[in-house]
Amino acid sequence: KRVGYAVVGLGHLALEEIIPALHMCKKSKLVALVSGDPEKMKIVAGQYAIKAESCYTYQTYDQIKNNPEVEVIYIVLPNSMHKEFTIRGAKAGKHILCEKPMANSKEDCQEMIDACAAAKVKLMVAYRIQYQPHNRKLRELLQAKEFGNVKFLEASNCQSSANPDHWRHKKKLAGGGALPDIGLYCLNTTRFVLGEEPNEVFAYQYSTPGNPLFTEVEEMVSWQMKFPSGVIASCSTHYNVHESRHYRVLCEKGWLNLDKAYAYKGQSLSRAKPDGKLELHENIGIAEVNQFMTEMDYFSDCVMNDKKPFTPGEEGLQDQILMEAIYQSAKEGKPVRIVNTIKADYRG
Ligand code: NAD
Repeated sequence: KRVGYAVVGLGHLALEEIIPALHMCKKSKLVALVSGDPEKMKIVAGQYAIKAESCYTYQTYDQIKNNPEVEVIYIVLPNSMHKEFTIRGAKAGKHILCEKPMANSKEDCQEMIDACAAAKVKLMVAYRIQYQPHNRKLRELLQAKEFGNVKFLEASNCQSSANPDHWRHKKKLAGGGALPDIGLYCLNTTRFVLGEEPNEVFAYQYSTPGNPLFTEVEEMVSWQMKFPSGVIASCSTHYNVHESRHYRVLCEKGWLNLDKAYAYKGQSLSRAKPDGKLELHENIGIAEVNQFMTEMDYFSDCVMNDKKPFTPGEEGLQDQILMEAIYQSAKEGKPVRIVNTIKADYRG
């Protein structure tokens, strides 16, 4: 048996990654579509043999509650729309897989968590990196303290963007610029591999004056996070430089480096440690997987076996709390303390 998915939003990520990956899944399958563009939906439905009665518009979306084939709704819309479609989907009695960032404010994240809890449906935020083998391996090596204690972590996720009319450059739809879109990977992955929550952040933010791409959302953010164990993470994100997606963890007796850390494929994990007077540098070979397939089959397994996901709504809320603190720090020009209100054992 495979769990039936409805995909909401037929943009780049849905059409190029998620829907093709659903076809390779072992525990998940595409059974319905939701789109604001009926013509596009007709073409996609034809390609993937989706019945006309399983195609919904944003207006008819609530009728999905009458479709027993749909067990999970995967929300792949612009960020500001995640909340509405999560809440309507939960009210329809369906489990929700929601793209990152979860929403544009911590209040919205909390409403989404509450709506899913009230409807007794599962909510998972699609943090594919937490299910990706190289990132998981790095986390495992750090937790085994192979190189002693972690002292410092440097993470960067940068790319260039060109279209000022895209929703990613509109504050109301995107919530922010580089930080919630791609900087979030540095933030979330750092928390994931360290297995710790920061208690202070300090940030700089900048947008080149006059650049039409950055009239509403920021071009770059550079921030530091201080963790209770004494680890400092130094993170950066930029919307206007050549692609660069890596992190390096500096430990007492060696370092670990992950190149293409947040990319869809091509991760390269290496480590170095002293070897007498020399340095031993080694690549750690790990087989690649399709990240979207892995993530969806993981969530289907949670649905089939009634398990709470590893990245539930609280994980998205925690990142939102931290992003708001990062923006506050950049605005005020001073560190912001994090008072953590989320229960530590929220992960499934
Ligand atoms: P996209 O612009 O390619 O697609 C967005 C879809 O939403 C389109 O089909 C568009 O028609 C629809 N839409 C509905 N209302 C809209 C409006 N008012 N303005 C613009 N589009 C509207 O975006 P995408 O890259 O597919 O991103 C969708 C979501 O997926 C975002 O939340 C993004 O952060 C997330 N995402 C995640 C990953 C990942 O690796 N997990 C990668 C890319 C995007």
